[in-house]
Amino acid sequence: MIRINPNYPKLSSSYLFSEVSRRVGQFKGDHPEARVISMGVGDVTLPLSPSVVKAFRLAVEEMGDAQTFRGYPPDLGYDFLRTAIAENDFQARGADISPEEIAISDGAKSDTANIQELFAADIRIAIPDPVYPVYVDTNVMAGRTGQYHDGRYAGLIYLDCTEDNQFVPDPPKSRVDLIYLCFPNNPTGAAIDRTRLAAWVDYARAAKALILYDAAYVSFIRDDSLPHSIFEIPGAKECAIEFRSFSKTAGFTGTRCAYTVVPKTCMAWDAQGKGYSLHALWSRRQSTKLNGVSYPVQRAAAATFSQEGKKETRALSDYYLANARIVRSRMDALGFPCIGGDNSPYIWARVGGDSWSFFDRLLKKASVVITPGSGFGLCGEGYIRMSAFNTRELVEEAMERLALVSGELQAGD
Ligand code: PLP
Repeated sequence: MIRINPNYPKLSSSYLFSEVSRRVGQFKGDHPEARVISMGVGDVTLPLSPSVVKAFRLAVEEMGDAQTFRGYPPDLGYDFLRTAIAENDFQARGADISPEEIAISDGAKSDTANIQELFAADIRIAIPDPVYPVYVDTNVMAGRTGQYHDGRYAGLIYLDCTEDNQFVPDPPKSRVDLIYLCFPNNPTGAAIDRTRLAAWVDYARAAKALILYDAAYVSFIRDDSLPHSIFEIPGAKECAIEFRSFSKTAGFTGTRCAYTVVPKTCMAWDAQGKGYSLHALWSRRQSTKLNGVSYPVQRAAAATFSQEGKKETRALSDYYLANARIVRSRMDALGFPCIGGDNSPYIWARVGGDSWSFFDRLLKKASVVITPGSGFGLCGEGYIRMSAFNTRELVEEAMERLALVSGELQAGD
């Protein structure tokens, strides 16, 4: 008899975005005339920029020519892309990261999901609440938690992100081994400053812990005093791994390209206290389980670092940030306390009460889709996440529709 992984049934109901689509699908079925506007799932809407398309096309042509055809790519990525990333995303900001410390992949989702394979089954894991669900679910699948009960898994250490700490958690009093941080944050849109990030690096070094730093939304930072990379903080190269993606930066959600930075100085230990280079372990893992990312995709990603590519890529995040400012100012004016939207495409709004009930009522009254905060964790109850990934026209229209029904929504109708 083939038996299942006994950890899978522990997973709490369905994946958040599947439940959102299910409810929207049902609504559309019941109301075929409704013009639904989505401010829910964080997927980009603008097309790839011209420099990226040109490089992509040229690389496809190369693949169709016997003289320039290429077979399997290097497991960790082509040097041209790793070098461009190291120079532009790190060295230009004073972070001493070399091309060999960068591993190209098909997505930050897979990398943040797969990285936990490198660690022991009984480590103590700190997870922010609310959180990007992938960090939690992949540890559940790997058997690092107990059962799900009242919105939380036994065995995880939750870091509450609330209005009291501006949605940026401080290091816990207790000792943890693995820490997930994401800034600018999905879902709250909060950003972390240097002082508070340095406190995490100090904590991790003292505890011989590791920080997994997800910077998938770094291209939305406009306050230049904020750290763009954890490696701008002294000491981080000993205790942190950083994840980045071209998805939100350059509209690659459908093209797929990301990278993970594992410094050569970053260590983890076995039960006897013997140290291992995480860089070597991640390289081993990737070369065993991944056959690299296609050449045209890597050429397309590298084009974002050309002079034109940089301008065009910046224009993409500028566009979404202008949407975010509209959402934020309208929500403020309607009396919903908000954060985010300034260094992030997400706005986190306090709506009070039950988030799924707000989701259902907004869908029914205005045909507007948001993401219920409680789907990201217990601390998300009473909040919603609004995404700026849409056209200006639809964002404007969604906010007008929301304004028309906001009185009823706030009264709980
Ligand atoms: N990390 C965070 C915090 C995200 O919000 C997302 C996507 O929404 C990802 C990672 C996934 O990125 P990718 O498209 O590179 O898999």
